[in-house]
Amino acid sequence: MWETDKTIDKAAQQMLKITAADGVATVWDRYEAQQPQCGFGSLGICCRNCLQGPCRINPFGEPKRGVCGADADTIVARNLLRSLAGGTAAHVDHAYEAVEALEKIATGDIDYVIKDENKLIATARQVGIETDGKDSKGVAKEVAQKALETLSGHEGEMGWLSAWAPKERVDVWRQLGVIPRGADREIREAMHQTSMGVDADPTNLLLAGVKQGLVDGYAGLKLATDIQDIIFGMPQPVKSEANLGVLNAEYVNVVVHGHVPLLSEKVLEWCRKLEDEAKAAGARGINVAGICCTGNEVLMRQGVPPATNFLGQELALATGAVDLMVVDVQCILPSVTNVAQCYHGDIVTTMPIAKVPGADHIPFSLEEADQQAEKIVRQSIESYKKRGSTPVHIPDERALIFAGFSVEAIIGALSKVNAEDPLKPLVDNIKAGNILGAVATVGCNNVKVKQDMMHVELVKELIANNVLVIATGCSAHALGKAGLLHPDATNNLAGNGLKAVLTAVGEAAGLGGPLPPVLHMGSCVDNSRIGDLLTALAGYMGVNIKDLPVAASAPEPQHEKALSIGTWAVALGVFTHLGLPPHILGSKAVTGTLTDKVEDLLGGKFYVESDPAKAAAGIIRHIKDKRHALGL
Ligand code: SF4
Ligand code: SF4
Repeated sequence: MWETDKTIDKAAQQMLKITAADGVATVWDRYEAQQPQCGFGSLGICCRNCLQGPCRINPFGEPKRGVCGADADTIVARNLLRSLAGGTAAHVDHAYEAVEALEKIATGDIDYVIKDENKLIATARQVGIETDGKDSKGVAKEVAQKALETLSGHEGEMGWLSAWAPKERVDVWRQLGVIPRGADREIREAMHQTSMGVDADPTNLLLAGVKQGLVDGYAGLKLATDIQDIIFGMPQPVKSEANLGVLNAEYVNVVVHGHVPLLSEKVLEWCRKLEDEAKAAGARGINVAGICCTGNEVLMRQGVPPATNFLGQELALATGAVDLMVVDVQCILPSVTNVAQCYHGDIVTTMPIAKVPGADHIPFSLEEADQQAEKIVRQSIESYKKRGSTPVHIPDERALIFAGFSVEAIIGALSKVNAEDPLKPLVDNIKAGNILGAVATVGCNNVKVKQDMMHVELVKELIANNVLVIATGCSAHALGKAGLLHPDATNNLAGNGLKAVLTAVGEAAGLGGPLPPVLHMGSCVDNSRIGDLLTALAGYMGVNIKDLPVAASAPEPQHEKALSIGTWAVALGVFTHLGLPPHILGSKAVTGTLTDKVEDLLGGKFYVESDPAKAAAGIIRHIKDKRHALGL
């Protein structure tokens, strides 16, 4: 396979030539070595949930049942529910980290502060806490307590969901019996439900999957975002650059990678504090860049440039310019240590659940975060000193980007057009057809797809058809590298209606030109911001989310988290495109339910299409149908 078959990212193509010449294996090489991948696994019809297995269903003949009698529908639905529980557990664990930090800020035990008191008060009121006469630490303590009830409560309806979900949705979910209790209880129950000899009913298992989606949406995404905004501040528009060209050979390069910003924010702080030590070591300073969603978190709030997305992490190390990569949790390829050994740079793991053989482990704790961040940054300076004659190849590829579009920032920009009624200009332009609709592109890279291709081609097609795009996760990275997070893309690629609206809003907001056609809303947990925006839009228009001319898309999904986020979107009533099918095609019943029948129950459904032009056409058709139903 040529580099141009692996990725559309020109920087990645250059680096792949280097790794190939050096004989260093990357994710693409290992993917090739795995061919052909197992057909049973791909279809989801293998089961190893007990020691009588593994069992496989033959899609073309016998056997049709595993040893225990489970058929393909049961096995596929069970496997899917386990994946959803896995994705949900990842986001809920992330939220726990943030809540624990807020709890300790309230008691004064740690060296973090509350940066956004307005968000703290708004959150407290929304979850039913009286704030009058209380100081911020007192309110923070009560918010943390409520959050812990959402995470670990054992009965009743989940508090964070009750506080934020639209009433119409809550009624639908209640009727279906899928409103979760505490997150831990539901994740535990899903593991029990899918163990040998418990649930064999595919419909019941799929409804449990919807419940996992709701746990993910409210106890994972929403809770993590709310608390992180309180601690680290509400993102506001920032200018930055994206792609490997943000690394700089003359600086100590520190890359933050993973998902939870608790450590990366401290590392950033210490990079600034120890700048002089880096200079004393012969560097011009310390340059911080991000990968994956920790990268998005520090981009959104601090303007730290993203070096690359999921598939590019090894290639960043292959530049020879990364002196230290510090990782927390999720989406870290275990191969990073091999690649760093072949080129240069230290890999530092920090979380007890995420260690990688060959990496240095500096355990992170909230109480000693400053000392640990200081140690990590000092180690990066030592590593820079050892760079010596290591060849450095930094591709000269970087694109200017704008990020930081929280809902509050979007409303802030719209309020420059109409201060009294900020959503009015947006809704008026949707009604008039200048904006056909909106699509959220989210999620990962997947080595099965040419890196970034689905994200970029799909979005170009959408914006040319006057569809406003909002993006998070590695999708936002892909679009940033391709220049789509910049106002020039509005001028050059957007349809006339969308261009006119973005220009009017951008000029009113003092940008001297249009907003970008893709608004970067943050990390994967920041998908909750998309939910907030949809809830606000539906409320303003007096319709339900399922009736809005909107869609979601994970063009290159890879992680179980993409499935749980997608399930939450479908539960909200959103038409949700996946560029690759999950491992469910071995059951016609499960596939048919998720791509068709579920719409009658929830208003949303999954739509799978791997061709970007066809996917765009399918999404636009859906948006037009919704417009038609609204009489637009
Ligand atoms: S649970 Fe049933 S299908 Fe799964 S491995 Fe055991 S016997 Fe086989
Ligand atoms: S978008 Fe997917 S690949 Fe990227 S950081 Fe998030 S989960 Fe990982």
